[in-house]
Amino acid sequence: MNKGNDTIIYTAHENLYLNITNRCTAECVFCIKRYSDGVYGYNLRLSREPTLSGIINELSKIDLSQYKEVVFTGLGEPLVRLDEVLGITKWLTTRGMQVRLDTIGHARILYPDRNVAKELADAGMKIVSISLNAQDEETYNRLCSPKSRNSYIKMLEFAREIFDAGMELRFSVVNLPVVDIEKCREIAKGYCADFRVRGYGGPV
Ligand code: SF4
Repeated sequence: MNKGNDTIIYTAHENLYLNITNRCTAECVFCIKRYSDGVYGYNLRLSREPTLSGIINELSKIDLSQYKEVVFTGLGEPLVRLDEVLGITKWLTTRGMQVRLDTIGHARILYPDRNVAKELADAGMKIVSISLNAQDEETYNRLCSPKSRNSYIKMLEFAREIFDAGMELRFSVVNLPVVDIEKCREIAKGYCADFRVRGYGGPV
């Protein structure tokens, strides 16, 4: 965990964060990638993606008992590397760690023939935090420019599957003028999801 380039694992708030890819299925206007190389002083730009065995090798050197949870997040969408997410989650949960996934939630588009929610639950994933980002599809498309059509609907379907598979569901939004926070809060309520509003730290 140094603060040089290619940071894969970093710490903050007593959590351990994993940055396993810079790829994504969206291009959000508020993405950190647009105005920074990372967070908390860590450079999260990856010159190449770490392998599953490389990530586990790095994790095995860490005293995990110091941390509350391990979170898949970083400067990209973790689910583009679903098999690595599953492998790492299994490795961590076997060692008693709570694991959370922060995702844009396009799993049904990336893997139409897989039951991603069930696979995550079977691997031991505890919490899935989905970027709801907007109160309707039009605002979502303007803010996130998803690479596939119907991404908003598919994201909501995936959210339902996460809840049905027994994981804790969270929705998050960024506090921007075009986001109707109260409508988003209502949507979260309809999915029995926890709801978080994140601040925007970029240029205006
Ligand atoms: S989903 Fe996340 S990583 Fe992808 S563009 Fe949006 S903010 Fe950036």
